[in-house]
Amino acid sequence: MTTQTPTIGHWIDGALVESTSGRTVPVHNPATGATTAQLALADAAEIDRAIASAQAGFEVWSRYSIAKRQAVIFRFRELLVAKKTELAAIITAEHGKVLSDAMGEIARGQEVVELACGFPQLTKGEFSENASTGIDVYSIKQPLGVVGIISPFNFPAMVPLWFFPVAIAAGNAVVLKPSEKDPSAAIWMAQLWKEAGLPDGVFTVLNGDKEAVDGLLTDRRVQAISFVGSTPIAQYIYETSAKYGKRVQALGGAKNHMLVLPDADLDIVADQAINAGYGAAGERCMAVSVVLAVEPVADELIAKIEERIAKLKVGNGADTENGEPDLGPLITAEHRAKVSGYVDIAEADGGKIVVDGRSLSVEGHEDGYFFGPTLIDAVPTSSRSYQEEIFGPVLQVLRVKTFQEGLDLINSGRFGNGTAIFTNDGGAARRFQSEVQVGMIGINVPIPVPVAYHSFGGWKDSLFGDAKAYGAHGFDFFTREKAVTSRWLDPATHGGINLGFPQND
Ligand code: NAD
Repeated sequence: MTTQTPTIGHWIDGALVESTSGRTVPVHNPATGATTAQLALADAAEIDRAIASAQAGFEVWSRYSIAKRQAVIFRFRELLVAKKTELAAIITAEHGKVLSDAMGEIARGQEVVELACGFPQLTKGEFSENASTGIDVYSIKQPLGVVGIISPFNFPAMVPLWFFPVAIAAGNAVVLKPSEKDPSAAIWMAQLWKEAGLPDGVFTVLNGDKEAVDGLLTDRRVQAISFVGSTPIAQYIYETSAKYGKRVQALGGAKNHMLVLPDADLDIVADQAINAGYGAAGERCMAVSVVLAVEPVADELIAKIEERIAKLKVGNGADTENGEPDLGPLITAEHRAKVSGYVDIAEADGGKIVVDGRSLSVEGHEDGYFFGPTLIDAVPTSSRSYQEEIFGPVLQVLRVKTFQEGLDLINSGRFGNGTAIFTNDGGAARRFQSEVQVGMIGINVPIPVPVAYHSFGGWKDSLFGDAKAYGAHGFDFFTREKAVTSRWLDPATHGGINLGFPQND
C-alpha cells in the first residue's frame, strides 16, 4: 500500500504557494525513518517571484511607523508564547531532538524576539547640535531592503530566529531558505507572522537547495545574507555574496573544547560534559566534542562520564509516555554513517573506544537513525576524527599535562566557535578568557550561548564576515546609517561664497 505524503511548497505573498518546479526531495522523521513529506525545490521562476514579493513587502513595511512595527512584533511574541508547543512538535518530528530540547530551542529564539520588541531604542540615530556654528549633524539608521537568511538543519526555529526578528524590526523584508531536512518550522513561523499582522511579502519562505541559495546570493535585489551551516558552505556563501556586493555574515562549523583543570569538581564536570556532549545527539554547533583533562584527573573523569552514559536513554523524542528519552536520533541515515565513520577513524588511529554507540538500535524504531553516546579516550591529535567536526554524540577525552598545553591545543585548531574552562581557580579562568582564540567562552558553563542582548558568533573558520548574530551586531548588520549635516540658513551667519573645503568653526 502506498500512502500519499504532502508536498511542502513555499510561503510567498502571505500564503502557501505550490511549486511547479517538478523537483522534490523527501522529508523524513528521523526517529522512524518514515517519509513524512516531499519538499519542493524552487526553480528560477519561483526564486524570482519570492524576491519580487519581498521587494514589494519591503516598500510597504519600511514605511510603517515605529509604533506600528512594534505592535506587530509584540503580537508575534505573544502568539509564539501561546503556541510554541505546536512548533516544538514540528521540530521533533522532522529534526528528532526530544520535545523538551525543542522547547529550549524555541525559548532561546524567543529571547531574540523580545530583544527585537525593543528595537526603537536600538535603531535610534545620534544628534550633535551646533557641531559647527549653526550646523547640526545627525545620523539615521535605515533598513537595507530584502535580506536573505539561509539556515541549517540543527536548529530549524532558533537559527532563523537569531536573525529575522532583528531584520524585520529594523524594517527589512526577509527571504528565509530553510534546510531541506526540516523545513516545516519555517512555514509555521510564516503563518504566525501573518496572524500577527505582518504585511504580506515581509516574511517569505523559499524552499530549495543550492539553486535557491545561489539565486539569493546573485540577485542584486537581495542586499544582505545571513548564513549558518557548515564551514565549506559558509566560506562559499561569504565569497559569493561579497562578489555580488552584499553585506554578509556566514557562521560555520565548530570543534568545541572543554578544558578541565585538576582543581575542578569532577562530578559537576562529568554532568556538564554529558549535557554538552550528548544533548540534541551532539548536533549543536556549541556542543562540547573534546574534553581536555589536565592530568592527573583523566582516568577518574572518564570513569564518571562512563557511569553517567550507562543511564542515558536514547529514543523517539516525541515519545514521552514512559518518560522522555535523553537524546533522539541523528538527522539522516547518511549522517549516521558519517558519524560512525569518524569513530572508525578514531579507533584505527589508536583511540580507545570506552563506550561504543555505533551498533545501538532502539526497540520498535529499528528504521530510525539512532546512534548511541560514544566516549573515546586518547585519540591522537593528528587523527581526522580529532581535527574535523563530527556533529554527533561522540565525546573525545584528551589528556594534557598543563593548562598551557590545553590552551595551546585549543588555539591551534581551525575553528573558534565556543569553549569552556572548568576550574575554581579565578586566575586561570581569567587568563583563559584573555588568551583563548575563540568567540564564545564559558567559565564553568559548558554551552556559553550568549543571551540575546550580547551577540553570537565565533572566530576563525567558525565565522566569515564582520558581524555576529543578534544583539548590537545584529542591529548594525540589518541597518545602514546616513549622516546628515544640516544648516537652516540664517542671513546673519551665512558666509557668502567660499570655494575652500568646508571648515568647522
Ligand atoms: P549545511 O552547510 O549542509 O547546510 C546549511 C544550508 O546551506 C542549508 O540551507 C543548505 O540547503 C545550504 N547548502 C548546502 N549545501 C550547499 C551548497 N553546496 N551551496 C549552497 N547552499 C548549500 O549545514 P547543515 O548540515 O544543515 O548544518 C550543520 C552545520 O551547521 C554544522 O557544521 C554546524 O556546526 C553548523 N552550525 C553552525 C552554527 C554556528 O552558529 N556557527 C550554528 C548551527 C549550525
